[in-house]
Amino acid sequence: DPAELARRCRALIRDIPDFPKPGIVFRDITPLLGSGPVFGEVVDALAAICRRAGWRPDAVVCPEARGFLFGAPLAYRLGVGLVPVRKPDKLPHETRRIEYQLEYGSDAVEIHADALTPGRSVVLVDDLIATGGTLGACATLLTEHGVEVLGALCLVELDGLGGRGRLAPVPLHSIVHYP
Ligand code: AMP
Repeated sequence: DPAELARRCRALIRDIPDFPKPGIVFRDITPLLGSGPVFGEVVDALAAICRRAGWRPDAVVCPEARGFLFGAPLAYRLGVGLVPVRKPDKLPHETRRIEYQLEYGSDAVEIHADALTPGRSVVLVDDLIATGGTLGACATLLTEHGVEVLGALCLVELDGLGGRGRLAPVPLHSIVHYP
């Protein structure tokens, strides 16, 4: 039951006001990660969403660092590989990079150039979508290279920040919503 799982997740997500800077309410998922049953149910639910949507990805793509926490068990569950997206200069082989705008300034992410060939299809996974800058950049990096992004999955979606719109037309499924 999705509503019941959302309730159980909410109870294990802690609000930290003014972290990492004033005015931001940080949604701390570490208590959820620390619960064996709920963490497991979340991974199972992400796999079930893929199945119901009819997504048959060749790989799971996830941004560092908290995306790895969900991407790895989901890839295992789906029986496919994992492709990490990282901050600049972390990946050792040849990379492709994309810069994206933040509220103030810009950021960038990289993927190994040979990780996915054109024509492959993937799902994106992260812990949380806020403005959609991170997942949107991942989606652009992939689609520009001819990789099909079937959809995106998040544990938490901050509805008010427009991330879903920034990601469109890539469909997004989230387990827990905050205004
Ligand atoms: P965005 O690119 O704006 O969608 O931000 C998403 C990334 O920043 C995710 O990887 C989150 O882990 C992190 N993030 C952004 N806002 C928050 C928040 N309020 N609480 C926890 N993590 C956040």
